[in-house]
Amino acid sequence: MARVFNFSAGPATLPLEVLQTIQEEILEWGGTGASVMEVSHRGKPFMAMAAQAEQDARDLLGISDNYKVLFLQGGAQMQFSSIPLNLIGDADSADYVTTGSWSKKAVAEAKRFCTVNVALDTESSGYTKIPPQAEWNTNPNAAYLHYCSNETIGGVEFNWVPDIGDVPLVCDMSSNFMSRPVDVSKYGLIYAGAQKNIGPAGITMVIVREDLLRKTSDLAPSLFNYEKQAASDSMVNTVPTFCWYVCGLVFKWLKNNGGLEAMEQINIRKAAKLYDCIDNSNGFYTNSVEVASRSRMNVTFILDDSSLDIDFLAESHDAGLHSLKGHRAVGGMRASIYNAMSEAGIDALIAFMRDFQVRNS
Ligand SMILES: *Cc1c(COP(=O)(O)O)cnc(C)c1O
Repeated sequence: MARVFNFSAGPATLPLEVLQTIQEEILEWGGTGASVMEVSHRGKPFMAMAAQAEQDARDLLGISDNYKVLFLQGGAQMQFSSIPLNLIGDADSADYVTTGSWSKKAVAEAKRFCTVNVALDTESSGYTKIPPQAEWNTNPNAAYLHYCSNETIGGVEFNWVPDIGDVPLVCDMSSNFMSRPVDVSKYGLIYAGAQKNIGPAGITMVIVREDLLRKTSDLAPSLFNYEKQAASDSMVNTVPTFCWYVCGLVFKWLKNNGGLEAMEQINIRKAAKLYDCIDNSNGFYTNSVEVASRSRMNVTFILDDSSLDIDFLAESHDAGLHSLKGHRAVGGMRASIYNAMSEAGIDALIAFMRDFQVRNS
């Protein structure tokens, strides 16, 4: 079977060149005479590769030396617990901004460990907009403010960075990480599960400002403890070696393709084409997110006649356009168009959508 255009939200499509490199190196990697999965994470070849991956990530994002870069296990959701355990310190509470399913889950988990002040919750409007900060109920003494820069399920993305003064800004960037340049210096902590935009499931990057590292609760398990992880190069226990290696290949791919500025331009073009197709369909397809907050990564849409959903999914699948079904929480369709989704994939999807509309109007 030929490779299809895979619009899965995560684990998601990876760059073909990266997969081909893995294929070439799968039996014998880096002069070790073994696969990367079969060598010690504490041996020189692996340590060198891991350090290079970190350096490439630092170069891509312009991360300065006062930030630690961690590669951890447990997925992005483990960070929902690690963040309060590490950052709450002596503060009475932390602020949380809820703009979709993922930031809502982060609140539920944080409540086990600290008092949460929900500074904004857009659930009553169906998670379709991001009100300006003037409407948020923030606390100047909060330990930190947590938000999600791209809600993968609803397709809602911040196109601006909250400005909350001295309160450390904490961001779940899982689904738009490295899709555009980011001014890391505005953040106290950034985290992202790899399986959306930078690699396979099983590894999560955490970028944390050093001065936030000395407040960890004694209750925090060692694997959750940022300070301990930073002190041991993320190697408190055996690391997900293969995942780390693939992330390193993706970072090289990003560098070879012009870095995050170039990615952003391509991503703007890809998303604009797809939203244009939806907006110019005379209501056959609709996206309900306010225009300024539409995600460049996860394009959600519904068919006006939902009885056509089954045909849409079956026929698109047959046309080699896979995993377009929306998340079960919201229904409809979702095209996840991360960095690795080519423009050819977008063009093929648009051609299919137009044709499907003509045949069913
Ligand atoms: C996928 C996703 C998560 C959850 O990631 P896991 O690795 O499954 O824990 C959290 N936040 C966002 C924004 C996501 O897209």
